[in-house]
Amino acid sequence: MPKHRNIAIFVPHLGCPHRCVFCDQRAISGTLSAPAPEDVRRAAEIALSDGETGGEIAFFGGSFTAVDRDYMVSLLEAAQPYIRSGDFSGIRCSTRPDAVDPETLGLLKSYGVTAVELGAQSADDGILQKNGRGHTFAQTKDACAMIREAGIGLGLQMMTGMYGETPGSALRTAEIFCGLRPDTMRIYPTVVLKNTVLAQLYERGEYVPQTVDEAAELCARLLRLFLDAGIPVIRLGLHSGGGVDDSYIAGPWHPAFRELCEGRIYLSLISERLRGQPEGRYTVHVAPSEISKAVGQKRTNLAALAARGWDCRVTGDPEVGVFEVRTQPERICRSHGSNGSQRKES
Ligand code: SF4
Repeated sequence: MPKHRNIAIFVPHLGCPHRCVFCDQRAISGTLSAPAPEDVRRAAEIALSDGETGGEIAFFGGSFTAVDRDYMVSLLEAAQPYIRSGDFSGIRCSTRPDAVDPETLGLLKSYGVTAVELGAQSADDGILQKNGRGHTFAQTKDACAMIREAGIGLGLQMMTGMYGETPGSALRTAEIFCGLRPDTMRIYPTVVLKNTVLAQLYERGEYVPQTVDEAAELCARLLRLFLDAGIPVIRLGLHSGGGVDDSYIAGPWHPAFRELCEGRIYLSLISERLRGQPEGRYTVHVAPSEISKAVGQKRTNLAALAARGWDCRVTGDPEVGVFEVRTQPERICRSHGSNGSQRKES
């Protein structure tokens, strides 16, 4: 059976006129080279030779429709044979909210682009301005409407822990983004990279990045908010590689950040189920794929529950859905002086 895999091609915005405080312009204009159409074909052929079809060809970098128009079209042209043959299901790209207009979207659609992701980052104009984004939230809203109008899938990307942002403003942004009904979300906690304005602010003590714990706490709340709204979060946390490892100075980067957040959601779900229950032993039923998240990294969830008097063991139950929890008190088998959820009290 063929494996589905997206091909991700990073398209840097050489000569970008903007000055986002978290962005390393030098890396973009110096060390990163722009992919050529041949690189698109090569990536597609490699995926096909590995038997990986059915995914999307994704042009990332955040400014796809802001790069030179002929260059953008040359990349879309290179992808065409693989879309027409059905080997890949479509093309997705990420761009800035102020680099979207009906003519550009019509062009993208004619080349088989099925989803456009907007680097929206925040719904608060003050924060967008402080971070040098160079666009407003009104432009994000307009871009969302235009993408919908064009019949293209809509993705939104937001950042957390931005310069000047509080957890409260991030939560407000998430609520507003939910109201825009994107098909997908990506959430990126801000990290401080070398050669950025943010690095200077950090060194002067004017910017204090979130800790991994703080970011995980906030992002778990955001993740739950989007999940409850039926909006899939297809990425949470920065990828390893892509320049982050070499350029990292400070901030909430963790190789398994999503798992940290999902673990916190399970801790909340279990606590909500056990609230008002007496201290004692409990069996917690979760989907089999979710056991490690429910237990928490280094068993932190079990330790936190035990500190509240609930001695829990987690078991996989195929009848329980993802992000669903069932709890059951364990009965003490007095005649044997031991416990077990299957044993009846004697
Ligand atoms: S993140 Fe900002 S500064 Fe960096 S390339 Fe994108 S728009 Fe330009």
